Parts: sequence; C-alpha cells; structure tokens
Amino acid sequence: MKDQQGLLFVLSGPSGAGKSTVLKEVLRRNPALYFSVSCTTRMPRPAEIHGIHYFFIGREQFEEMIQRNEFLEYTEYAKDYYGTPLLKIQECMASGTDVLLDIETEGAQNVIQKMPEAVRIFLVPPSFEELERRLRSRGTDTEDKILARLQTAREEWKKMPSYDYLVVNDVVENAVQELESILKAEHCRTARRIEQMKEAL
Ligand code: ADP
Ligand code: 5GP
Repeated sequence: MKDQQGLLFVLSGPSGAGKSTVLKEVLRRNPALYFSVSCTTRMPRPAEIHGIHYFFIGREQFEEMIQRNEFLEYTEYAKDYYGTPLLKIQECMASGTDVLLDIETEGAQNVIQKMPEAVRIFLVPPSFEELERRLRSRGTDTEDKILARLQTAREEWKKMPSYDYLVVNDVVENAVQELESILKAEHCRTARRIEQMKEAL
C-alpha cells in the first residue's frame, strides 16, 4: 500500500489526569510515533528534561517565536505560556509519521480550526476527587498552582463532548491500551484506507 500522510492526534484533559503518565508508556511501545515537544515558560519539574518533555524558554524568547509565526497554536495557562512548534509537525506528517500533541482545550480548538482532520482524544481521571488527589500526590505544584489547575479543570471538563474519543484513566495499563486502539483504528477508517489502496485496486 502507498504511504499515507501521518495523522495528527490531539490529547487533552485536565492537568493531573495522567496524560504524561499514559503517553510515556504509549510512546515507549510505539517508537515510530512523534510526540510534539511544546515550548513553555513554566519551570521544569524535577524529572523533566529540556527537549524531551518541553523546551523550557523565557517569556521574551517565547514572544519572539509568536512574532515569527513559529507556533501552530499557543496559549497562556496558569500564568505561563505554552505553544506547539509548527515546523517539526509539518515535516513528520509529510513523511508519514503520526504526531501526538498533549495540549489544553483552548489550544486543541485552535488546532482543529487549522487542521480539522485532527483526531481529538480527551483523557480524564475516574472522578474529580481523584484528580485532586493526583495533583497533590504529584507534589510538583504549590497550593496556589493546584487551586488554579483545579479551577481550570472544571472549565476543561465541560469541553469533553467536543472530542472524538474519551479515555478514562483509572488503571494506567487500560488507558494505554485504549489510546493505542484509537491510534490503530483511525488508520483503518475507510476514507483513509481507500486513499491508500487506490493504486492497488
Ligand atoms: P498530567 O500529565 O495529565 O498532568 P500526570 O501524568 O503528571 O498528569 O499524572 C498526575 C499524577 O497522577 C502523577 O503523580 C501520576 O503518577 C499519577 N497518576 C497518573 N495516572 C494514574 C493512575 N491511573 N492511577 C493513579 N495515579 C496516576
Ligand atoms: P503542565 O504544566 O501540567 O505540563 O501542562 C499544563 C497544561 O498545558 C496541560 O493541559 C497540557 O496539556 C497543556 N499544554 C502543554 N503543552 C501545550 C501547548 O503547546 N499548547 C497548549 N495550548 N497547551 C499545552
């Protein structure tokens, strides 16, 4: 079959839901998948590595990148900038590599406006109480930041119906398998397969 353009997957969900935890495992099992490394002005958490989890940059540098139109989308979240660099995504998709974004709901809406074919996945914890417990147990945020994230989470939760898929991260392994199933199923969509098989049929 002919190589097709890589697909774009947009993963959102409240901070603390477990997106990074689930993604880490999905990426380990699917090394061909490209995780888009965002730029952010927030401070790195203890285990985070520049260039792997985020590009940790200053506000000035971030604003220069905005001026140069280097972001597919960007937003301000909990008083820090977050943005998705465009170039690498374009290169990956053109070469047939699937791309995964981990971005909040406003950014996801902006991506969909520009790339309506993107697949939207929402990941939630089993309950709001569990979200609060996870945010606190992660131990990376001050009380102020935790409260800001919980407040934002309540707003984000309402955006759930606009996503194509909903993954409930109760047990990590189940969430990983559900996410992998979605990635696979999207490649089997008739519209995409027909395009791929045009020459063979
Ligand atoms: P996010 O990337 O969505 O902000 P994280 O992946 O950082 O969330 O997870 C937040 C906290 O919850 C971390 O301490 C992580 O170890 C924990 N966690 C993630 N998934 C689960 C789960 N299924 N069950 C229990 N704890 C989890
Ligand atoms: P965290 O600080 O917990 O790593 O991320 C906070 C929120 O920012 C999460 O909801 C995460 O999905 C989102 N985020 C991370 N990178 C980007 C990005 O490039 N753009 C947007 N819009 N959101 C992002």
